[in-house]
Amino acid sequence: MDKRSSRIGKGRRGGLALIVECAVDEGKPSVRSKTYWNKDRGGADPFEIPKRVASGIEACQSSMHEDGAVAHPLRYIWMYITEAGLRQDGEHPQSEDLLGLDGWLNVIDESASLGAEWMVVYVGASLSQVPYIWEVCAWAQGVHGLRVGLHLTSNCLSEDDIERLSRLDPEKTYLVADKAHLASLRFLESKGIRLCEANVRATERDTYCTKPEEMACVGADGRLFSCGLVLGDERYAMGNYRDRSLHDVNSDDSLPHAVPDTSAFPPSGCDACPPLMAMHALDKEAP
Ligand code: SF4
Repeated sequence: MDKRSSRIGKGRRGGLALIVECAVDEGKPSVRSKTYWNKDRGGADPFEIPKRVASGIEACQSSMHEDGAVAHPLRYIWMYITEAGLRQDGEHPQSEDLLGLDGWLNVIDESASLGAEWMVVYVGASLSQVPYIWEVCAWAQGVHGLRVGLHLTSNCLSEDDIERLSRLDPEKTYLVADKAHLASLRFLESKGIRLCEANVRATERDTYCTKPEEMACVGADGRLFSCGLVLGDERYAMGNYRDRSLHDVNSDDSLPHAVPDTSAFPPSGCDACPPLMAMHALDKEAP
């Protein structure tokens, strides 16, 4: 095992540990991870080294699967990136409790190392309330090749939002919006921005839903829940991302990796659920 791969299993937040190690191997200053790569590097592919790191992570992931260490393959990330995403339980986290840019990038790194392919980010009514949202999306797409859905609960987009949306990878970007808003957002399609209906019908979800097995659902303060339908419900709490790796959480069968009776909740509670959004997007793209 070479120096780089020997670090893969040791970092609690494996992705960040790998990035630092890789930068050393390249003879560059060590702490150049995310902020550095988000700057203009004079025409060079800013994701060149991170992409190679991602390949290392994927190699590591394969061996982890061979060892049977991952109980459930992770395919989806559901990120409640705004403070508003946690208010269902009446708690108002302090700003220092929120994950912030580096925290979210680490969630993405670790989820990708476990196999994540899709990510849905709840942004609430306005994209501009999360200034670093564009860095988060660019990192997920550029480094890990994830498809990204931005769940907007209004039809309010500024010129700057549209410009920045247009700069993301058009093959991997979806604006996820309520059916009631889609008509007024259709003009975005002429700019290459794909739309995806957020609404989930009762017939689309299983009564006993096991989709959380494949998903990491992370609240603004790092708390983990089975999925967005039960965000803030202590019966479905799975600890905090800061305290426990996603691999650990994902492998722990004592945690609630299913919602046993979805009929107890309104279908709208499942709106923007990542595996269902992936189906909506792929249905729309089918010839
Ligand atoms: S949001 Fe609904 S469909 Fe998605 S995992 Fe939760 S219960 Fe299942």
